Amino acid sequence: MDTELALAWIRETAAAVERQESYLTELDSAIGDGDHGSNLRRGFTAVITALDTLEPDSIGAVLAKTGTTLISKVGGASGPLYGSAFRAMGKALPQATATPAELAAALAEGLLAIQQLGGAAPGDKTIVDAWAPATAAFEAAAADGLPSAADAADAAAAQGARDTVPLQARKGRASYLGPRSTGHQDPGATSTALLFHTLAQVTH
Ligand code: ADP
Ligand code: MG
Ligand code: MG
Repeated sequence: MDTELALAWIRETAAAVERQESYLTELDSAIGDGDHGSNLRRGFTAVITALDTLEPDSIGAVLAKTGTTLISKVGGASGPLYGSAFRAMGKALPQATATPAELAAALAEGLLAIQQLGGAAPGDKTIVDAWAPATAAFEAAAADGLPSAADAADAAAAQGARDTVPLQARKGRASYLGPRSTGHQDPGATSTALLFHTLAQVTH
């Protein structure tokens, strides 16, 4: 990955969030407060504005700016969680080009940041349920090159998001519903799958 590809990833993510806004909000209406799509759209719109004036010279500059903007612009739980993840990834990638192994390590730092802030474990029906398997799959395929690793992560994140359907939420707003949170796909795991899908898209 290089700085241009990092920029392309974030731009593609912003576009995808805009396209999927109503779907993400619909998922959040079932087990949350129906704002996940609008939260992320507001956040990524602000990210694009911030990046347009930045002229970043490293992957880290792109990802760190993405993270701080998400933290400051998104009120919901997902803003600080994604914001911290992008900041942690940015910190792990201060360089202008990164190998797949370095990107794998940065994704793991992002996961750690999400878990440190939110305290969720796999199976709690959160972002972690897509991010953790995606990171593991990326790492396992890193030696095959970036497009293969990103494809593996994309597939694992999508599967992880689907696998949240039968789970009962143990973190976040959906946990207030107790057993009634089962039978619905988690909005945050779904937006994480979208993030890994756009990463795969821009590597091809
Ligand atoms: P809010 O719940 O504040 O309205 P959003 O709707 O934007 O925020 O985001 C909800 C998503 O955030 C959930 O679907 C879940 O995936 C994720 N989430 C909530 N709490 C946590 C947590 N502690 N750790 C990881 N992800 C979480
Ligand atoms: Mg919400
Ligand atoms: Mg909310």
